[in-house]
Amino acid sequence: MSLTDNEFTRRKRVVVIGGGFAGLNFVKHLDPDAFDVTLVDRNNYHSFPPLFYQVASSGLDPASICFPLRRELRKRHGRRVRFSMGRAEEIDTVGHRVITPLEEIPYDILVVAAGTTNNFFNMGYLAESVYTMKSTAEALRCRNDILALLERASIATSSEERRRLLDFVVIGGGPTGVEIAGAIGEMKRYVLPREYPLISQDEMSITIVEGSDRLLHTMSEDASAAALRSLESLMVNVRLGTNMKEYDPDRNRVVLADGTQLDASMVIWTAGVTATSFRWKTSAGEEGDGSAAVAHPSFVGHGGRLMTDTGCRVTGLEDVYALGDISIMSGDPAFPAGHPQLAQVALQQGRLLARNLNALSAGKASKVKEFRYDDKGSMATVGRNRAVVDLKHLRFHGFAAWMVWMFIHLISILGMRNKITVLVNWIWAYFNYSTSLRLLIMPSRRPDNNDLGAFSGKDGSSGDS
Ligand SMILES: Cc1cc2nc3c(=O)[nH]c(=O)nc-3n(C[C@H](O)[C@H](O)[C@H](O)COP(=O)(O)OP(=O)(O)OC[C@H]3O[C@@H](n4cnc5c(N)ncnc54)[C@H](O)[C@@H]3O)c2cc1C
Repeated sequence: MSLTDNEFTRRKRVVVIGGGFAGLNFVKHLDPDAFDVTLVDRNNYHSFPPLFYQVASSGLDPASICFPLRRELRKRHGRRVRFSMGRAEEIDTVGHRVITPLEEIPYDILVVAAGTTNNFFNMGYLAESVYTMKSTAEALRCRNDILALLERASIATSSEERRRLLDFVVIGGGPTGVEIAGAIGEMKRYVLPREYPLISQDEMSITIVEGSDRLLHTMSEDASAAALRSLESLMVNVRLGTNMKEYDPDRNRVVLADGTQLDASMVIWTAGVTATSFRWKTSAGEEGDGSAAVAHPSFVGHGGRLMTDTGCRVTGLEDVYALGDISIMSGDPAFPAGHPQLAQVALQQGRLLARNLNALSAGKASKVKEFRYDDKGSMATVGRNRAVVDLKHLRFHGFAAWMVWMFIHLISILGMRNKITVLVNWIWAYFNYSTSLRLLIMPSRRPDNNDLGAFSGKDGSSGDS
């Protein structure tokens, strides 16, 4: 299933695309004395997606959920791991190269851990008009525009105008949708009366739209019911059993599949993800016969995910592995349809692949293991002091669940400074809604630096999704 012993006759060049949960955990566990390692990421930091919604709702500042990749690599491996910032666009499995707008990086072993991006299904135009929550940059944009709408509404001259400016619609009732709807609900309930006294609570509306018949449909029914009660207590309207059919940003209008029309000054889209895609150049047998790069070779499966075996090796490719959200594995008996796209899967796969490669490089092929996901359960939070937790043998919700949720998230965030900052922020917010984080700092548009176009996304090649 993986490389054989005698393939490790010299130090192999390992290139990892993506410094998220999977890629970074892989690098952390890989023996840097046995491999030449290069980590490539479009950002120079690792981020913590489960708390994006707190950035979007001004609960945390972005720096407390991000950590510089160079620092983490230096801390773990000194100078033995190279970091290269850039967006990988093409993977040439014939010439063994990863291609970014700025360089070509040769590899012997490639590990693809580039996660997912937003999926708008057949409504591609939404990319231009809805707010999303797939990166720190997107969460920050959401935060700025929520604050801008509140500022704008507070100087509006009529109640009608204030209502027009403050209609928030969240699409998707999974954990991210529930969490961001709850956080905006708390702003309406507790922040509005204190900081925006000219806006009445009735003038702000928050609606969450979910296609299935319950919120958090991947969790237990108890968790769904508790989330529903919590959102309702935060004055969030919940629409179940219907999807968004279209959105007209010029008229601030969302149309649902059941025909309902909703006013929407801001639509936050949390309803779908698709794997990060690349152009692939592969050997004979694939479309293009290896001479031209293609987007959908045969190993790209459902949701654009790369199909792997239980050793995380991409089907039919030599020396290419895929980890975390971007991959879909067959062969784990408990998960015949593939694993859920969760942080624990990504972390566990990263660790397993690193240990397998370490074992092979040390000539211990008998130590190579197949991946089996150890499902530790799932959780979501609604508001500042309520959560729902589904563990293997125990389900609970409310304050105790929130304490567990806090603890798990705190130990998972990288960096002691970040852990302390987040904890202080949470304790402060628990007793007091006055935060110094509701700052509306808009990035300046000028000057343009031509040398940095590939980093800032001006040519569409880098930056966040
Ligand atoms: C808002 C939100 C909330 C979530 N909440 C939870 C939760 O509560 N619990 C849970 O278990 N899971 C949660 N998840 C899912 C969890 O974050 C993912 O399962 C996990 O991040 C997957 O890890 P990964 O390493 O595969 O991908 P990611 O962590 O997404 O990392 C991908 C990395 O690749 C980089 N990258 C992307 N494209 C390129 C490219 N072309 N070139 C170079 N670099 C690239 C990115 O910058 C990023 O660093 C949440 C996800 C989101 C978006």
